[in-house]
Amino acid sequence: VSLNLIMLGAPGAGKGTQAERIARERGIPKISTGDILREAVAAGTELGRRVKATMEQGQLVSDELMIAIVRDRLAREDARRGFVLDGFPRTVAQALSLDEIMRGRDPLIVADLAVAEADLVRRLANRLVCGSCGTNAVVDAAGNAPKSCQQCGGPLVQRKDDNEAVVRERLQVYQRQTKPLLDFYRSRPTFREVDGAQSPERVAADLSAAVDSALKQITSTQGAGR
Ligand code: AMP
Repeated sequence: VSLNLIMLGAPGAGKGTQAERIARERGIPKISTGDILREAVAAGTELGRRVKATMEQGQLVSDELMIAIVRDRLAREDARRGFVLDGFPRTVAQALSLDEIMRGRDPLIVADLAVAEADLVRRLANRLVCGSCGTNAVVDAAGNAPKSCQQCGGPLVQRKDDNEAVVRERLQVYQRQTKPLLDFYRSRPTFREVDGAQSPERVAADLSAAVDSALKQITSTQGAGR
């Protein structure tokens, strides 16, 4: 069975960090729509020029554009044996299209990283990312930030959309447009909720166990169908 995993959760819940980690552990690509868009903006491509203002305001890019990007990406050879999607789907329309894209492939496993709203605001305000490789670094309780990226030594910067006004907008967009996805997916036998308020190591362990139990669930139903 392929691990076809989608990570749900509010901005700041730890989706990117956990997606990166589990993708590495399982040897499958991490596909982050936010990274794809940020790279396009940095490279100044046609796509980048189209989405730049929307991203800086904390709004969502159109479903049509996002669905086309993900459809192309999931058709690539390296995604055939599984993938971790981070940041997609973000609307019910995107989720419906994803089901259609996934027809004939192994079922989606859906992991929701649950974190309280007050924690999200604090995490986003304190978040620094590496300008070279995109790895997150966190300012500690005393307000100290590391000097450079722990992974590659690159410069740490604040994401343009992590400033307070835009963070508030992104959390509202999440409540309004993305949170309804929980009701869309919750009844599926492969839906799992993970407590995202724990340390990154504990979240990773819980996520890994949740994914294994969902994979088992898929194997047992597929076996029964034969
Ligand atoms: P992220 O890194 O996932 O927080 O994404 C950063 C920004 O990219 C979001 O605030 C949106 O403007 C845009 N974006 C990323 N993924 C999507 C998506 N699936 N649908 C719409 N907009 C997206």
